[in-house]
Amino acid sequence: MSEPLLFELSTPGRTAFTLPSLDVPATPLPEGYLRTDLPLPEVSELELVRHFTRLSQLNYCIDTNFYPLGSCTMKYNPKVNEKAAAIEGLTQVHPLQPEEALQGSLELMYRLQEALKEIAGFAGVSLQPAAGAHGELAGVLMIRAYHRSRGEHQRRKILIPDSAHGTNPASSAMAGLTVVQLPSDKRGNVDLAALKQACDDTVAGLMLTNPNTLGLFEEHVLEVCETVHACGGLMYGDGANLNALLGIARPGDLGFDVMHFNLHKTFSTPHGGGGPGSGPVGVSERLAPFLPGPIVVKEGERFRLHVPEKSIGRVRAFFGNYGMFIRAYTYIRMHGPEGLRAVAEHAVLNANYLKALVSPHFPVAVERTCMHEFVVHGDIPGTDVRALDVAKRLIDYGFHPPTNYFPLIVRDALMIEPTETESRQTLDAFAQALAAIAHEARTDPALLHEAPHTTPVSRLDEVKAARTPVLCYKG
Ligand SMILES: *Cc1c(COP(=O)(O)O)cnc(C)c1O
Repeated sequence: MSEPLLFELSTPGRTAFTLPSLDVPATPLPEGYLRTDLPLPEVSELELVRHFTRLSQLNYCIDTNFYPLGSCTMKYNPKVNEKAAAIEGLTQVHPLQPEEALQGSLELMYRLQEALKEIAGFAGVSLQPAAGAHGELAGVLMIRAYHRSRGEHQRRKILIPDSAHGTNPASSAMAGLTVVQLPSDKRGNVDLAALKQACDDTVAGLMLTNPNTLGLFEEHVLEVCETVHACGGLMYGDGANLNALLGIARPGDLGFDVMHFNLHKTFSTPHGGGGPGSGPVGVSERLAPFLPGPIVVKEGERFRLHVPEKSIGRVRAFFGNYGMFIRAYTYIRMHGPEGLRAVAEHAVLNANYLKALVSPHFPVAVERTCMHEFVVHGDIPGTDVRALDVAKRLIDYGFHPPTNYFPLIVRDALMIEPTETESRQTLDAFAQALAAIAHEARTDPALLHEAPHTTPVSRLDEVKAARTPVLCYKG
């Protein structure tokens, strides 16, 4: 870091804060509670403010720059969401208040449940899960509970295509199911022959991401659902990529029995440093009795908490991440049905526009019209430049790197998702940066191998950074 660290600014006797004069008798602290070896920096208030403001500016975020992180749907989080979430009537309540005193808060949950049901074509929704992966776990637990309730205890196999998100096999394993991987065909679809071979009476279900992690719509989705249903299995839909489908196709209509929504992707609530996310689950008629509770039901004009009869139970304390419900509901109401459809149309248009600009420099993995994202090979043939080098060099151009080395089935994958909230100018600038990097790779590859050059620290050993992090100032 070029600026001095706070500890290096220390000047003996300088303070940023003056304690008010003591208005009670001074009492010494008990022995042993005071450390003598605590060399805190002595700085002024201005130095302190500058230190933390500088640190905050090292954060990369959607409010400062383009963030094309594939599969993550890093769209703009409208500030009106924050305004709604700060409404006093919604913040100054407690989940242990009686239902009678929470009618407004419950109504908002009810309306969000209804909106999500309508958007994705499901019979029931629970808002409880705290993230997409948490929704997956709730979903596969429901699938298990469903088969058990019918005495089909042998259904313990879950089929997962090799183009799935890594959380899918992880959630299934956590739920005690055995994962069977299905290959993709040349067009990036599920290999139907392999699927048919895997289907028998030990199959609990299939987890499908549609559009898949290649950004491609599953062309045989109806046949996949029919095949799995025919052998008695259920269909799990990974709804993280719903941004491509809003107002155009409803997973419930396609044949999915359960799906999670990522409010922090599709519905513009903040991703925020690992949380708080929100991953509601939607289900078809036959899984509705198994939903995690409580959900909100309407009886006459009253809203009531309800635990469905065969519920898998609670998956989270209280109601879920309530602040996110307010933001997502605001987003849905601000857009309305036409607006949500426009979101998907523009997300797909932006991705295809950017794909056309990028593919002359970095070839796409599967040449098809993409949905909301696309995957290219990030290595440069004839050089030793890899996707990682390209990703790191993008930082020097002021862009967050795309998701890289995922999906695993693509060599040197760069997975790019622009979202609908970016302008054409931003997409053009990003494509120009990638074109310039492709040129640099051939003329000055060392520049890429050593990137980034503009950050406080350059290329890190990422494994070491994760395994043996140095988190405090050592002087
Ligand atoms: C993000 C994502 C998930 C997991 O969602 P989290 O909210 O991060 O737990 C699952 N599947 C896909 C395809 C995703 O993009």
